[in-house]
Amino acid sequence: MSCLRDSISQIEPSFQDLIEAIETSSTLMLLIMSAWHLARALAVRLVEEVLTERSQIPTQWPDCPKCGRRLHSKGFVRRQINSLIGIIHWKRRVGRCPYGCEIGQIAPLDNALGLLAHQRTSIELQRLGCLLAIFVPFETVSILLNCLTTVQVSCVSVWHWVQDAGQKAMDRLNRELSDLASGQLPQPESLEEAISILPLLMGSDGVMVPFRPESGKGSTVWREVKVAVLARLGRRSKSNAPQLYQRRLVAVLGDIDALRPRLWLEALRQSILTAPQVVWLSDGGVGFWGFYTDYLSSFAIGILDFYHAVQNLWKGAQAWLDGRSKKARQWFALARHRLRHGESKMVLDDISCALKLGGLSETAQKALRNLYEYLDIHRYHIQYKKFKDSGLPIGSGMVESACKWLIQQRFKGVGMRWSEDGFNHLLHLRLAWVNDRFDELFFAQEDSPK
Ligand SMILES: [Zn+2]
Repeated sequence: MSCLRDSISQIEPSFQDLIEAIETSSTLMLLIMSAWHLARALAVRLVEEVLTERSQIPTQWPDCPKCGRRLHSKGFVRRQINSLIGIIHWKRRVGRCPYGCEIGQIAPLDNALGLLAHQRTSIELQRLGCLLAIFVPFETVSILLNCLTTVQVSCVSVWHWVQDAGQKAMDRLNRELSDLASGQLPQPESLEEAISILPLLMGSDGVMVPFRPESGKGSTVWREVKVAVLARLGRRSKSNAPQLYQRRLVAVLGDIDALRPRLWLEALRQSILTAPQVVWLSDGGVGFWGFYTDYLSSFAIGILDFYHAVQNLWKGAQAWLDGRSKKARQWFALARHRLRHGESKMVLDDISCALKLGGLSETAQKALRNLYEYLDIHRYHIQYKKFKDSGLPIGSGMVESACKWLIQQRFKGVGMRWSEDGFNHLLHLRLAWVNDRFDELFFAQEDSPK
């Protein structure tokens, strides 16, 4: 017979049933499940034992925060908390002001354990709930938590945890933004040497999210979330396919002006000032290119998404050669080829010739002029041959999919509609997760679990 099972039931006869369940388990799955039950029961017992010991230590009563007199003990009072291992019960001394100041019951042991007065769930369980909530709806989190821990937690509780942790993340970001505005640069994230020598790739995109109307009733209001991605651009060792490292996302429910300082803050944290090369890759969005012009153009390479440029070529060709679709297709194919292979000047010349020749309808003229201006403004951002030759991507697909994933995966489920606060809290929690800053919201630096 096993010494361990014997000694457990000798020390704690109430575990006898759990041990018998292990012994009579026929399949491996049942064996593991029943051992898991015992492990959890043991863990709860261990924690309760330590808490009971600590509650016996004489209490150092603090002074009443109102009148300054030493608090008096009112004896032991029950406390319970939901935790990762189950529900934990213990008793600890509580004190009151001897002169009746309305300060409630004070429990010094709770303070020492890092518990707040009304806290009903331990931090590690809240963390797990928030982690699940980043990926699945609150109702599902409640079900999963029950499966994983057997603790019953309502989806409203999960929602509250997310609001608290998300608010913490937002407060931290706002502090960092105001530090930056007052001239204090953020601490750059540490990078492995092999990563730090890679180019820093940046790009941005907008994603629409469904919101409840402010009145609460009526049809869905779609609002744009601006998302930006920053990553080091490397290559997979086997296939040599492009690969993003140290991917960081920035997002805001708001316009480009709200995105700008957030994006610059993150760029500084990703060592934009010392990166060997900085590449901005974006579609034609005017606001995004405004950011490039103001912050990056003096040192970074700007690349206009090739497919966006091609789309505009096709639009121009159609408007110009409307009714002669074969000719439109021919011109488009040639222009696309030229653009891709470093002959964008010939494309521009072509368009300017067509404009000079005249005989165009007003719509066609307008479309062609727009196309010319678009390509002309981006003259330096459409040198696709040069970009390709230096190993840079010319399509913003990687940028767009990172941006879309952040929003699409969690915020656009069937029937989902968000309130502004609810959305913002969860968005910042999700950002903290993808940016590897999630645990800072739950644990102080020194007590983060290994
Ligand atoms: Zn008092």
